[in-house]
Amino acid sequence: MPAKQQPNLLFNEYVKNVGGRKGRGIVDAIGDGATDEHIEKKTNYKMTEIRSLLNRLQNAGVVEYSRVKNMQNGWFTYTWRVNKTRATANYMVQLRRRHGELLRQREMLDGTQAYRCRRGCAKVSFEEAMETSFRCPKCEGKMRSVNASLERRELEKQIGAIDTILKK
Ligand SMILES: [Zn+2]
Repeated sequence: MPAKQQPNLLFNEYVKNVGGRKGRGIVDAIGDGATDEHIEKKTNYKMTEIRSLLNRLQNAGVVEYSRVKNMQNGWFTYTWRVNKTRATANYMVQLRRRHGELLRQREMLDGTQAYRCRRGCAKVSFEEAMETSFRCPKCEGKMRSVNASLERRELEKQIGAIDTILKK
């Protein structure tokens, strides 16, 4: 895919993670900038729901507001804007953190050499597996090293997916 589209892809993914389908609706309704009332008209969501979604999106750095005081009634009008650059940067930070966690998990798999029952009922240390002659303490089925298991492949897959995103 063209490199130019990557930030949009990341942004869309982030919005989906933070606010789900309705969060996406809010972001689309904001467009180049919109007030609460405008968002309400465009989305038909309840105002309480809009406020809670805006709050969540704001905490995640997806949207921000500026406010203007109405001199007649003293009320503030909030105008919301989408900040794609900041949202994408925040998402990258989140991905890097997740990446670090996954690497640590993989290291633990390497270091501990756990054994797991093929049926999945138990996971034990190497020492414990030795005691039962590599038989599951629950079902007596054969235990195999977790290193060769799906768990590691699954971790590798997730690490690889994040690697691909971070390298772009
Ligand atoms: Zn078992």
